[in-house]
Amino acid sequence: MKIDLAGKIALVTGGSRGIGRACSILLARAGAAVLVNYNRSREKAEEVMNEIRELGGEAEIFKADVSVPEEVEELFEFLKKRFGTLDILVNNAGIIRDNLLLTMKISDWDRVHDVDLKGAFLTSKSAAEMMLPRRSGKIINVSSVAAVAGGRGQTNYASAKGGLASFTRACAVELGAKGIQVNAVLPGMISTDMSSRTVRRAGELILKRIPFERFGDPMEVASLVLFLASDLSGYITGQTIAVDGGLSIS
Ligand code: NAD
Repeated sequence: MKIDLAGKIALVTGGSRGIGRACSILLARAGAAVLVNYNRSREKAEEVMNEIRELGGEAEIFKADVSVPEEVEELFEFLKKRFGTLDILVNNAGIIRDNLLLTMKISDWDRVHDVDLKGAFLTSKSAAEMMLPRRSGKIINVSSVAAVAGGRGQTNYASAKGGLASFTRACAVELGAKGIQVNAVLPGMISTDMSSRTVRRAGELILKRIPFERFGDPMEVASLVLFLASDLSGYITGQTIAVDGGLSIS
């Protein structure tokens, strides 16, 4: 059975690198037209767009900070003008600002919640508005195993990603009858720019806790996102699914 997303429109936030890049490319390979959102790295976003176009797919890029309501509005205005509608939203944009509770700056607490949680709220609201009239759509939130297993120095991140998991369930209840599915993926330790410092600092220790004895590849997260974006996941909503080599259950 082949996943076919031909004719579907997807938006991937923070799609220029890491897991977002992998999601953009995999969704495009399955036939979806992809709007790659980025915040700072235009060059990297252009690389993703060009890679998709070289594969014969359709892609555009758009700069927006997902935590800023006006910029999210502009992002969706562009989406509407260029593609007309939206079938798949991947809320991937996220940051970490790790510190111990006692030394956590209020600004770092706020910024992580603004990007990782409020950002998904803003984009999901606009996406649901576009999806409702057609009574179909898929929203996939990239949370983290930090949502279910506390990590040292991550009170802000764990709280935001835990909030994102709860947000996923509440959205799924509200939007289920309207044909919109909302699910979350919970990556474990995936080899990206974000995790590189943690891997350098504590990689060996973390590896010992992963039953698969290796870190994940962004494409392994994107594969789950692709499944959730496809018809194969037709009866699944409000779920948080870990893709972590067993880290969260060890
Ligand atoms: P990354 O740092 O490589 O990518 C994050 C992306 O989000 C970047 O493209 C960045 O530009 C974008 N971004 C950041 N702030 C933004 C903003 N305000 N507006 C728009 N885009 C913004 O990290 P990654 O590892 O690819 O992470 C992707 C997602 O996966 C994040 O939500 C992260 O929390 C989650 N995650 C990653 C891991 C991991 O081990 N790498 C584990 C669990 C969860």
